[in-house]
Amino acid sequence: MLSPAEIEKRLLRLLPRVEKPARYVGGELNQVVKPWARIPLRVALAFPDIYEIGMPNLGLAALYELVNQQPEMLAERVYVPWPDMQALMRADELPLFSLETRHALRDFDLVGISLPYESIYTNVLSLLALGGIPLLANARTDEDPLVLAGGHATFNPEPMADFIDAFVIGDGEEALLDVAHCLLEAKRNGAGRAQRLRALAAIDGVYVPALYDVSYHADGRVAAVDPREDGVPQQIHKRVVAVLPPPLTRPLVPNLDTVHNRVAVEIMRGCTRGCRFCHAGMVTRPVRERSVEAIVEAIDAALEATGFGEVGLLSLSSSDYSQALELVRTVAARFGSRRINISLPSLRIESFSVELMQALAGNSRRGGFTLAPEAASERMRAIINKPVATSQLLETAREIFSRGWHTIKLYFMIGHPEETLADVEAIAALCQAVLAEGRRVLGSRAKVHAGISTFVPKPHTPFQWVPCDSLEQITAKQLLLRQRLRERAIKLSWSDPHETMLEAWLARGDRRLGAVVLAAWQAGASFDAWREHFRFDLWQQAFAAAGLAPEFYTHRPRPLEERLPWEHIDAGVSQRFLREDRAWSAAQRLRDDCRERCSACGILPTFKALRAAHPGPGWKCPEVGGGAAATAAAAGAAAAGEPA
Ligand code: SF4
Repeated sequence: MLSPAEIEKRLLRLLPRVEKPARYVGGELNQVVKPWARIPLRVALAFPDIYEIGMPNLGLAALYELVNQQPEMLAERVYVPWPDMQALMRADELPLFSLETRHALRDFDLVGISLPYESIYTNVLSLLALGGIPLLANARTDEDPLVLAGGHATFNPEPMADFIDAFVIGDGEEALLDVAHCLLEAKRNGAGRAQRLRALAAIDGVYVPALYDVSYHADGRVAAVDPREDGVPQQIHKRVVAVLPPPLTRPLVPNLDTVHNRVAVEIMRGCTRGCRFCHAGMVTRPVRERSVEAIVEAIDAALEATGFGEVGLLSLSSSDYSQALELVRTVAARFGSRRINISLPSLRIESFSVELMQALAGNSRRGGFTLAPEAASERMRAIINKPVATSQLLETAREIFSRGWHTIKLYFMIGHPEETLADVEAIAALCQAVLAEGRRVLGSRAKVHAGISTFVPKPHTPFQWVPCDSLEQITAKQLLLRQRLRERAIKLSWSDPHETMLEAWLARGDRRLGAVVLAAWQAGASFDAWREHFRFDLWQQAFAAAGLAPEFYTHRPRPLEERLPWEHIDAGVSQRFLREDRAWSAAQRLRDDCRERCSACGILPTFKALRAAHPGPGWKCPEVGGGAAATAAAAGAAAAGEPA
């Protein structure tokens, strides 16, 4: 493998020949460079897309800071080069390298890959191949790094099980350090690869697929996923950090424009609303909040350290943050005079959200105001458990327009379970009704932007058993919307149905999908999340080559008793709860926000000891072990038929 000096020399030759060379040079403000030779454990943190997409990833940035705080460890960054650079690197035999010290990927002890969504799976293979690491985990030797993956997509790790040595399921902050300490010890003891994998499998929340056998029924359904050895857990319980660690205070400042050039602070993790389509809302439970003081101090420090002019306060449902008004008032008072643009995405459809945005924005009205009703008929909103009355939505829209915003962005999904064409037509009618509200206030200046995505039933949600819409169904629904929404004041955008199919195959697949991912990549599939690069035909051919039918994964309703490919992964939310919620959905029965009434989703029994050890309001599940809140939890649980 080439030395860093040789890599640097070859890199300098290539840089003038590629688009955006700043992607490949590193050296950003707040980059951490530790002395390679003196650090015993070296970790590469990789994002399987280009620099501009990977740099703002908050999870990876937090892990970068965390690992670099450990005296015996270093973390460096790796992104996937754009195709022009990849071609030159292959021609010049330049291996994929870290931005900090130009070490080749395979020189690291641990390569940690972020997998937030499925359409970057082929880029993982590009990353490994360019880095000189064997693609298949079972072809790696003691000389190769250990390849770890984490992120929301790993709640169904099976389609990537052939390529990844170990997955971290759930919150990564503590688990990554546990993995790193385990490898450090193994390195000191001279433990080989097999021993390392066994040691990793003993860490809570770590899944080592090579230690499990998957068997199938004759019709292709999964029959079982069994540990190969004694001592390997049957179920892998996700990791949860009881207290969110302090937010980042020295984020890296990118060399070129990225998708978000801002200070980002996660104000809260998890969601209590229980929208049935929402994977993130289910797998990130329980809700844990950061304090207003911790958030404001972090913003202050990060602005000082970066010079950014924008702050994003991130969570799945920002208006549910319990101190939301206090937070925005404090932030506005503290930073308002500095002309910092503060964004608070994921707001609920209610007047309170408008109040929050107004407190943040002062007199400026940059961009549009975003609302996500997800469905347009009240029947469909009951099915998906996102109850908001149409009258309330229109009232909120009126208030938004009255307070000076000219554009409302409305996000919907088509393809929800039991959706009819009448539900799709309701989307068009609702967009027109919102526009009419705007016209009443602003005349022809009012605009509506409708973003229409297509629902993919995800693992660990109450909809995990339902089929997806077919290509034909999706296309027909999109056409209907295009025909109904022809006003110039309504801008319509929609997702590509073929990209939806890819997301569905990979999200709902079993371990045999590994052969499909490999064949698609070998045929040239990469950057599948980029419309100009996505090749649906390559995936169809890959399915055919693997002897698998894509519709088996997407268009087949799965009986409740079927063993699902991801059932050995425990996201904390119980199968009993998911089945019950599926039945409630079919009956259009709503479930309360679980902060008002715990619905015994399974989180508390799974993490009872952790909750008991961390009492107090930072964690939004009821207290365990006594007190009024615990009594309320028990009442809620009893009503749902399960001990709290
Ligand atoms: S245990 Fe209760 S309060 Fe906690 S996430 Fe589940 S339903 Fe919500």
